[in-house]
Amino acid sequence: MTGLGTDGRPLRVAIVGSGPAGFFVAEHLFGRDDLAARVDMYEALPTPFGLVRFGVAPDHQKIKNVTRTFEKAAAHPHFRFYGNVEIGRHLTLDDLRRHYHQVCFSTGAQTDRRLNIPGEDLARSHPATEFVAWYNGHPAFQSCRFDLSVERVAVVGVGNVAVDVARILCRTPDELAKTDITAEAEAALRESRIREILMLGRRGPGQAAFTTPEARELGEMPGADVWVPPEDVALDPISAAELARQDSRTVGKKLEILREFATRVPSGKPRRLIIRFLVSPIELSGNEAGEVVGMRIVRNELYADDQGRVRSRPTDRVEELPVELVFRSVGYHGVPLPGLPFDERWGVVPNERGRVVDPAGGPVPGVYVAGWIKRGPTGVIGTNKADAAETVEAMLEDLAAGRVAEPAEPDPEAADRCIRARQPRPVTYRDWRRLDALEVGRGKPQGRPRVKFTSVDEMLTNLERA
Ligand code: FAD
Repeated sequence: MTGLGTDGRPLRVAIVGSGPAGFFVAEHLFGRDDLAARVDMYEALPTPFGLVRFGVAPDHQKIKNVTRTFEKAAAHPHFRFYGNVEIGRHLTLDDLRRHYHQVCFSTGAQTDRRLNIPGEDLARSHPATEFVAWYNGHPAFQSCRFDLSVERVAVVGVGNVAVDVARILCRTPDELAKTDITAEAEAALRESRIREILMLGRRGPGQAAFTTPEARELGEMPGADVWVPPEDVALDPISAAELARQDSRTVGKKLEILREFATRVPSGKPRRLIIRFLVSPIELSGNEAGEVVGMRIVRNELYADDQGRVRSRPTDRVEELPVELVFRSVGYHGVPLPGLPFDERWGVVPNERGRVVDPAGGPVPGVYVAGWIKRGPTGVIGTNKADAAETVEAMLEDLAAGRVAEPAEPDPEAADRCIRARQPRPVTYRDWRRLDALEVGRGKPQGRPRVKFTSVDEMLTNLERA
């Protein structure tokens, strides 16, 4: 019989999730001269690209250009896209096993990490994940409401997502008018009465996760003055020692920017962004209507753990902040997938270099993971490229070693029939190209990169019409 992975008998791969990790897996598979692969990509939403569309901030359009790379994989003659098909709902892992030699899950991290403090679930306390998905037009989050009529808001966290949220809250209507933010979010932000945004970091400025360009950008916003309390930006001995050990020029540059922020005096811009370090929320207090009206924070100090990692612990200095809206941005968290093992603590599918392993029963043959569901919600888009390459290496090692199950129905048409029986309206890549053109066309007269469709029905109706 012809060898598996050759033109006579191509390797059939299902990729679940069309974010950066899924597309990088497809790119790596198609990039191998010694492999003939047929790839079907499944996506729960009608639109591809995961967090590039629904996470990356609308005022950072250039970053979204990475989709041009993904277009190349999508243009491969042996690539098929099945949007609007959710694995676990329309098809199961067993269904996929019947049609493919290998299945790679790249489903990202679909929910948020919690603070686990009293008052967290009061009204006006929201996961940043929801706010981001709302302003970026994710269909499942369009009914969310955020009360922007208050004056003071706290953004808990100092990672890149927290910075995005703080920056979007500070943007002026003119700035937002050039983006692809949804009309509803834009209108709400135009009416916003927020005057002060507090960003709160648990550890010190030396450990802040945001990047230098992002820090710099905060200091250049036309609509908001930025300030850091000088006390918060002073480098403690533990961080100074860590910095000296790592000889980190990037952190040094970031500290320089933050120290300069500490010297600034308000110039009368409509909003003020205050970045605070070494503080953690310990309780949210509410009014009679159950809405947040305050946050109790504790001052932290840093210490080095057994392995020399810089950690924070609370002191006895407590402070009350009169904030009325809270965005919690302390990390994303993966969700379990039916039929796959799951590590609740880290929110990932347990794996060894991308091979899914069941801690109770050893390797799960033919099933792989890539991206955030594999390693947790860290890193930028590009990080997923090396991550996907590692997974593809594992897939090809298993192929070479004959550790590949034979699917009962490997014919691509059989998979297509099965999908259409379960989801009569899958969205193909051609359909997406039409939606994309429609969105870009709607944006043109307004000078925007695009005007997104924000409901699945709207997308499907437009596809019927076009
Ligand atoms: P995702 O991008 O989340 O893709 C997962 C996909 O799987 C989604 O499309 C989802 O709908 C789909 N899916 C989930 N479950 C199923 C299922 N059961 N069936 C079918 N499909 C499913 N990085 C940068 O480099 N620059 C930035 O400016 C930047 N900004 C960011 C802003 C935010 C708010 C966030 C959260 C992240 C940002 N990142 C940025 C990081 C970057 O987006 C991630 O590294 C990357 O998207 C992770 O890729 P992924 O493919 O693992 O997951």
